[in-house]
Amino acid sequence: MLENLPVVEGDPLWALLHQFNADPRSQKIDMLVGVYRDETGQTPVMQEVQKAELKLTKEAASKSYKMLSGNLEFNDHITKFVLGNNSPRFDEQCTIQTVGGTGALRVLGDFIAALSPQTVIWNTEPGYLNHRPIMEGAGLKVESFRWHHNGGILDIEQCFEDLAKAKEGDVLILHGSCHNPSGVDPLIDQWQQFIDFCVAKKVIPLIDIAYQGFGVGPEEDAAGLRLFAEQVDFMLVATSCSKNMGLYCERTGAAMVLSSDKSQHQPLRTLLERITRANYSMPPNHGSAVASLLFSEPEAWLKELSVCRNRINDLRLGLGKLLSEMGADQSLQAVTRQKGMFSMLPLTAEQMTALREKHAIYGMLNGRINIAGLKQEQVSYLANALIDVMK
Ligand code: PMP
Repeated sequence: MLENLPVVEGDPLWALLHQFNADPRSQKIDMLVGVYRDETGQTPVMQEVQKAELKLTKEAASKSYKMLSGNLEFNDHITKFVLGNNSPRFDEQCTIQTVGGTGALRVLGDFIAALSPQTVIWNTEPGYLNHRPIMEGAGLKVESFRWHHNGGILDIEQCFEDLAKAKEGDVLILHGSCHNPSGVDPLIDQWQQFIDFCVAKKVIPLIDIAYQGFGVGPEEDAAGLRLFAEQVDFMLVATSCSKNMGLYCERTGAAMVLSSDKSQHQPLRTLLERITRANYSMPPNHGSAVASLLFSEPEAWLKELSVCRNRINDLRLGLGKLLSEMGADQSLQAVTRQKGMFSMLPLTAEQMTALREKHAIYGMLNGRINIAGLKQEQVSYLANALIDVMK
C-alpha cells in the first residue's frame, strides 16, 4: 500500500510560520495565522469563557454520551444567534452541533453528496483555503467565481459573469461576514442580488458564517444571511464559535439546514446524524457547554467580543488613514472598508517576499494578512514598509 504514498505539498502557512519563529529580528510581525490577537500579541481565553469553565468544573456534570445531534441546548442557542431571536425560521430548521465550523462544512458537503452527488459547488476566488478540499473530500465538484473589489466594494458583475454557468441544484457558498481572505463583504443590496440569483436559477445557498461579531456587530454581520432566510425555502448554514468566543481548539460549531417543508425535518435530521455517526459519532461537548452558558446570558461576552472587533477596526482605520496621508495607492487604502481579521494586500508574491525579507513582516504569498496580528505601535512601520515594497 505504501508504495502509492503520494508526495503531498505541506500547508504553505506552517512553513512560513516556522520561518517566522526562527527569525531573530526584533521588529518582526506575524500576520499569518487566522486567530485573533490582542494588543500584547496573545490569543487570550475570554473572561466569560473562563467563568463558564469554572462553573462547569464545579458542577462536574456527567461525561456520559450526548445525543447524536450534540448538545441540544447549544443547538437552539446558536440557531437563534445566527437567525435572530425572533426569526420565524427557527421552527423550520434542523441544526446539529459539529466539530467546529470545518466539521459543519464537511457534514454539509457529505449531506449534499448523499442527496445529489453530481452537485457543483461554487466557491469564491480568492476564497477560504479549506472550502475546496472539504467539498472535494466529500466527492463534490468545485468551480470558482471571482471575488474582486473596487476600492473595497465587491465587483458583483464579475461574480455573475462567472456564475452564469451555474445550473439548477448547484450550491453557492457565500461567507456570512468578514470574507476570508479578502475582508470584502457584499453590501446589503448586493446580498439581495445574490438572493434574486439563487431564486431565479434555483441555486442553493450555503452561508458559511465563521466570524459573526467580528465585522460590524453580531446582528449586522448576519444581515445578509437573514435576508436569505426570509426569502428562500431551502438553505444551508455552517457556523462556528472558534472566533467569536475564542473557542478555537474546543472545536465548537453547527450545521443548519433550513427547509420550509416541515415534513422533511425528521428525515433531514436522521440523514445528518447518520453522516456524523459514520465519521466521529458525536461532537465533543465541552465547547458547546461553555458556549451555551455564554449564549444564555450574553451581555458580558458580547462586550468582550466588541473589544476584539473595535481593536481590529481601529487598526484598519489607523492604517488606512496613514496610507492615505502617505499618498498610497487606492487599492491599499481599501483596508479601511474591509471587514474582520483578513485583508488581501494588492501585492505580488515578490512584493510579499520583499515585505518579509526586507522588513520582517510575514503575510501569505497571495497577499493575505491578518490585521489582528498587528499592534498599534507597529501600524506606521507596516505603512512605511508597504509603500517601500510597492515603489
Ligand atoms: N469558514 C471560514 C471562512 C473560516 O475562515 C474558518 C476558520 N478559519 C472556518 C470556516 C472554520 O472554522 P473552525 O476553526 O471553527 O473549524
